[in-house]
Amino acid sequence: MSKNGMAYDAIVCGGGPAGSTAAAVLSDFGRRVVLLEKEAFPRYHIGESLMPYCYFPLKRIGVIEKMKASHFPKKYSVQFVSTNGKVSQPFYFFHHLDHEAAVTWQVLRSEFDQLLLENAAAKGAEVRQGVAVKALIKDGQGRVVGVEAEAKGSKFELRAPVTIDATGRDALSVARHDWRVRDAYLNKIAIWTYYKGAKRDPGLDEGATTVAYVPEKGWFWYIPLPNDVVSVGIVAEREYLYRDTRDPAEIFQREIKENAWIADHLSTGQVCDSFRTTGEYSYRSKHCAADGLVLVGDAFAFLDPVFSSGVFLALRSGELAAEAVDAALRDGDVSAARFKDYGAKVCQGIEAMRKLVYAFYDHNFHFRDLIIKHPAMKGDLTDCLIGDLFRDFDPLFKAVAGFAKLPDPVKHGAPVGCDTP
Ligand SMILES: Cc1cc2nc3c(=O)[nH]c(=O)nc-3n(C[C@H](O)[C@H](O)[C@H](O)COP(=O)(O)OP(=O)(O)OC[C@H]3O[C@@H](n4cnc5c(N)ncnc54)[C@H](O)[C@@H]3O)c2cc1C
Repeated sequence: MSKNGMAYDAIVCGGGPAGSTAAAVLSDFGRRVVLLEKEAFPRYHIGESLMPYCYFPLKRIGVIEKMKASHFPKKYSVQFVSTNGKVSQPFYFFHHLDHEAAVTWQVLRSEFDQLLLENAAAKGAEVRQGVAVKALIKDGQGRVVGVEAEAKGSKFELRAPVTIDATGRDALSVARHDWRVRDAYLNKIAIWTYYKGAKRDPGLDEGATTVAYVPEKGWFWYIPLPNDVVSVGIVAEREYLYRDTRDPAEIFQREIKENAWIADHLSTGQVCDSFRTTGEYSYRSKHCAADGLVLVGDAFAFLDPVFSSGVFLALRSGELAAEAVDAALRDGDVSAARFKDYGAKVCQGIEAMRKLVYAFYDHNFHFRDLIIKHPAMKGDLTDCLIGDLFRDFDPLFKAVAGFAKLPDPVKHGAPVGCDTP
């Protein structure tokens, strides 16, 4: 029993990268944590390409050596392929970042997420798999004081002063409070599958992420994974992809022909998995926190994955939330307002990425033109692409605004009862 008379200091709902990181960091602080994960790991998940700055939270929670020893392909770069199949100069992270973080990975999420979950358990978090959180328990003042959960058909309650919602795109708290605000402009869907035996580029480029444009409409990702498998998917507007059929395999085969590089690279391979789709794209919750509740990772916000920012934002928000929760517990005040700085920081990072995503979808914007006109902006641009996101990017986006229409910052995302993030 901890000081507060409850068995736990914090309940973490969801054992993806955000939840496992939050649980690991809180355990390092000596907090008693229970993590509830509805699936039995290893389980499938999309989101395989990491950003260089994932290194820092991964280092902090102590898994970098395991990542280095893993069979995950090393990712040195990202490259863009134009609609006519022409490849850009690869964008090598080590040209900008003189640190071992410049080499990142393409991960099998089943293995990566299991590694992070086991790491949280090894640090002392009580990890319970096959336990689905069904509801948040609130006291008479509306403060979250625990959760109702279900395992193998039995329901039970757990209580703690703080609950961290890391339930990913299921977004438990967002769904229960009707807090989801969609980003209408980024209203895309994705269709993806896996190929075995598809072509890989030689040398350093073998593990590169390739983003290949589909004329006027969207883009393919091409992510080399272990065991000669490649993850390949298309992201575009629903009306465009579903214009003559809703069969994902047919749509996929139709779109492959729209980019010569993709068609060529897949020509030697065979589909080796099912086709998967996801809709309901980018969103952000109205609030990042309430009394006794903090939202992390996709449970707070999801952004179009073109720049592979999702896992990084999950790891980093998990880490930042854990720090804020530890400080709040220390002061005996876990009210929503305690998480204002947390929300402001996470939103700052998301905003930088969101502007870049808007620019990507603007046909008047090309990285090359930006850098030719504003060579001094290359560093800032690279910082965004590697994940060094939590700072002021005004000069960069003033320059980008000369080419692309950029969005106003989203005003929601602050804790309940606080103003703009
Ligand atoms: C098509 C697509 C492509 C993507 N590509 C990339 C990419 O290349 N690179 C990248 O960085 N990101 C990518 N992402 C984003 C990435 O997948 C997510 O940002 C990342 O997984 C978020 O981590 P998380 O821990 O917040 O959530 P998740 O990884 O989704 O983990 C949430 C966990 O919570 C569990 N859970 C859910 N509900 C409950 C409940 N009620 N009770 C208990 N447990 C629950 C789930 O089972 C899951 O294990 C992509 C996303 C999509 C949709």
